[in-house]
Amino acid sequence: MKCDACGGPMISARENYNYAACGLPHVTLVGVEVRRCKACGEHEVVLPKIEQLHRAIALGVVAKRPRLTAPEIRFLRKYLGWSGAGFARHMGVTPESVSRWENDRDPMGAVADRLLRLMVVTRVPVSEYALDTLAELEDEPAPARLRLEAARGGWRAEPVAA
Ligand SMILES: [Zn+2]
Repeated sequence: MKCDACGGPMISARENYNYAACGLPHVTLVGVEVRRCKACGEHEVVLPKIEQLHRAIALGVVAKRPRLTAPEIRFLRKYLGWSGAGFARHMGVTPESVSRWENDRDPMGAVADRLLRLMVVTRVPVSEYALDTLAELEDEPAPARLRLEAARGGWRAEPVAA
């Protein structure tokens, strides 16, 4: 295995990997294969079942109690497969509102937050999500802190304490 950037040898190892590339700052993938180039520092991470991984992250995010953060709103919108304009149509708001939510210029309201969570839940088996969660949400936003492990049945997200 050669480095794409410099042609040097890549060393493969299992690591706990911060998956910031998904757009969320506190998502850790446990024991995934990471290939690193000692010569130039380039690395690549091997992500099996990436669609199911993103589903597990989305489910972890909608299960948390604090209000959704701007990066989470963007992550969930992309997970649902919508452009900003498509998301605006589904939410019944203007594209400008979506832009303000995603750029952290305007907080998403409590009702819109719950509606987005329910849209995500319609994409996962309903038995995995307790609607009672919606009754226990907090008003303050805080980022989801998740640890994901690839188990036999696929990726599973566990919340981690801050
Ligand atoms: Zn390299």
